[in-house]
Amino acid sequence: MSQRGSVNKIGEGYIDGSYMDGRFYEAFVFVSDVKEGKYLSLLFNEPGERSSKIPRKSVEPERPRTIADDFHDQIEDLYSIPQEYWPRKEVRFSPSMVAKCERELYYLNVDAEKDPPQPAVPWKNRLPRNGEGVHQVTQKDYLAMPDKMKKHGKTYNFKMLQTEVIGRKVFEVDGVMVVISGRCDGILLHRDGRRFIWEKKTKDKRKNLQKIKEPQDDHKQQVVAYSLIFDIPGTIFEYEALEKPPWMKDVSDDMKHFYVESTSEMEQKLLTRLAGIVKAIESKQVPPKDLDKCMFCSYKELCAKESN
Ligand code: SF4
Repeated sequence: MSQRGSVNKIGEGYIDGSYMDGRFYEAFVFVSDVKEGKYLSLLFNEPGERSSKIPRKSVEPERPRTIADDFHDQIEDLYSIPQEYWPRKEVRFSPSMVAKCERELYYLNVDAEKDPPQPAVPWKNRLPRNGEGVHQVTQKDYLAMPDKMKKHGKTYNFKMLQTEVIGRKVFEVDGVMVVISGRCDGILLHRDGRRFIWEKKTKDKRKNLQKIKEPQDDHKQQVVAYSLIFDIPGTIFEYEALEKPPWMKDVSDDMKHFYVESTSEMEQKLLTRLAGIVKAIESKQVPPKDLDKCMFCSYKELCAKESN
């Protein structure tokens, strides 16, 4: 038996395991042809409901169950609870959603039936906490930024005025009411009196951060919606990689900033688009598909059933 990475002879193998569909599978990975890089995986454990309930004989030594295991199981149960959705009380659009497929926004606003939920996977349900936690800590740091910089004799031009700012506005467009409401991460005040939206985005890996050369299109649309509800045309995006390997040392390549500004043409275009969705809802005419945006849509099954 070998450790992973040291397998170099046909006939050798190692014990591995992985989560699939929320279940832990253990495998003996057997090398059948090193030159061709062929591996033969033999699953020998029955898939279980939770990894903690699977005896991992070859991976971890047997140990008596402790009170910590009871707590672990309870936490796994907590994060197995599927996300809850509440019915919509009105037709409205949030800044983070305005770039979505028009049909998806239609379904969302008429409370159409979503695709059946995927089986809840505790670690996946815990994933958003990483980003949320970084948001909250950064907001706290930036609110305290002026005092800290002053105390250490550093000059500063920006200060965070407010975080988690809620905004809502109603626009009359082409004879219908368009409601945009949402929350931005923060509002910055520059020394010269200008205000900017501060929008934080997190990436899991540094390599994913390095790929970003400018904010993606849906983030730019978010800027337009923020401008409409907060009367602040400029947004400073802050992208941060959650991965901070120890070898990164002094090179600060875990964070990037971009500036995006909304124009009145962009705002009019967005309002006209959203007004079209409101009209579609009123006339019960399902908008056309936008097949480039299906990946994260929750209405794939319903959409596939529509004749058009
Ligand atoms: S499945 Fe695709 S086309 Fe259909 S509503 Fe969703 S995003 Fe739009």
